[in-house]
Amino acid sequence: DQPIHEAVLGRSVPEHGDRPALIDGLTGTTLTYAELDVRTRRLAAAFAAAGVRKGDVLALHSPNSVAYPVVCYAASRCGAAVTPVHPLATADEVAKQLHDSGARWLVTVSALLPAARTAAEKCGGITEIFVCDAAPGHRSLADLLAGGAPEPQIDLDPAEDLACLPYSSGTTGAPKGVMLTHRNIATNLVQLDGVLTAEPGDRVLAVLPMFHIYGYTALMNAPLRKGATVVVLPRFDLDTFLGAIEKYRVTAVYVAPPLVLALAKHPAVEGRDLSSVEYLLSAAAPLDAELAAACAARLKLPPLLQAYGMTELSPGTHVVPRDARDAPPGAVGKLLPGTEMRIVDLDGGADLGPGATGEILIRGPQVMKGYLGRPEATDAMIDADGWLHTGDIGHCDADGWLHVVDRVKELIKYKGYQVAPADLEALLLQHEDIADAAVIGVTDADGNEIPKAYVVPQPGALLTEREIIAYVADRVAPYKKIRRVEFTDTVPRAATGKILRRELRARERSSQDS
Ligand code: ATP
Ligand code: MG
Repeated sequence: DQPIHEAVLGRSVPEHGDRPALIDGLTGTTLTYAELDVRTRRLAAAFAAAGVRKGDVLALHSPNSVAYPVVCYAASRCGAAVTPVHPLATADEVAKQLHDSGARWLVTVSALLPAARTAAEKCGGITEIFVCDAAPGHRSLADLLAGGAPEPQIDLDPAEDLACLPYSSGTTGAPKGVMLTHRNIATNLVQLDGVLTAEPGDRVLAVLPMFHIYGYTALMNAPLRKGATVVVLPRFDLDTFLGAIEKYRVTAVYVAPPLVLALAKHPAVEGRDLSSVEYLLSAAAPLDAELAAACAARLKLPPLLQAYGMTELSPGTHVVPRDARDAPPGAVGKLLPGTEMRIVDLDGGADLGPGATGEILIRGPQVMKGYLGRPEATDAMIDADGWLHTGDIGHCDADGWLHVVDRVKELIKYKGYQVAPADLEALLLQHEDIADAAVIGVTDADGNEIPKAYVVPQPGALLTEREIIAYVADRVAPYKKIRRVEFTDTVPRAATGKILRRELRARERSSQDS
């Protein structure tokens, strides 16, 4: 049982002090493990001198940066929980999270200061706003690091005290504050040992957001625990991303399905030297096996790895280990040690055997403490025996490989049959003239729920609704057919690449109303 700053830095700092821990992928600025440790301690001291106390919530409102982990571990040293805020959130959204989380401190960057200030004024509970870089009227990290305050001496209870208060992605509804204790996060890191970034020589590209639990773990805590080097990019841009892989000879790339799509299809990938990459791992949303294979073939990589998890699970339960060469295509991984899983019938809740499809239930030390201030939502998610009902549908083979189909909530019920939108999206993406696609259930004139596709054609492609319907009809059982198509410029997605089907449903409703 350890606080997260210990779980992450406790061994890597003494063993790898001179190695680069973090490199800014744009400027090349490097922080060694020893420097990371010193900054973390000094910042913790300065935070404590400013009044940050055990049990406080500190909001971190920033794109990925070398400073991101410094702030996280400094807060941990003070016993404060970090609530990571989406850097592109509007002032209203920031205010909502500040208010809901009960944040007392806000760390931001100068570029986001206007939204941060407005939000802090609105929320009222913020004692001080710090900026990571520099801005008039605010203390910067450099100011704080220059002070010589003594390090805070606090007594943490890893099983009870919160290390992180991330908000779920809000894919299916309003984002909820997820209470993750030090034990939740630290045990999940131990469970991930050996499957995520196992070696000090690894160079990991951090392009997915660190504010999301996937990036927080895979791009920050897990590699820094191991003595690997994290190359940090503040935002995604395909060219910069590819350039950073080439320049820093990146070995491990963590992505989400839309990036796999870009790597498999985008012309800009042609001719780039990605030979340093040893593995590519995708998580956060369903990844089609064919698309994964096409991507690996194009980049001349071994089969793509996958992982499965959710904010409420700190976040991991399944990973395809980097040395697994026997993983069936499309599998999201095998159960991590110390974790239990059941797959149960969607109707009766009866336990299902290997190969049968049902809802995934998880029990283990990484199950969240609960949703902040939402006891009913917590009880709806975690039953009396400690099983967390993921709301995801999957099946597991006799060897323990899990496949995730989609979310229960997203299933389209066509005349009593269940259709997973993710399956149809995967099929659509295999069409060479389709750049992107999303599928939702809509109601037809007779009141039936039917699958409708939103399709982004490849530039210059001439596609018709009829062609798309026929293409899918040739390849699926009749009840799964796409019955309506709308062409669109983009598919709405969350920062981690999840399709925001609720936005498409809202669009559909407003077009029916008008
Ligand atoms: P909210 O709960 O607020 O609606 P969210 O569920 O998208 O948002 P996250 O915790 O970021 O918030 O995402 C977890 C979900 O992501 C899982 O429940 C699952 O549906 C999906 N997911 C994660 N990894 C995978 C994967 N490898 N394959 C398929 N789906 C995945
Ligand atoms: Mg969720």
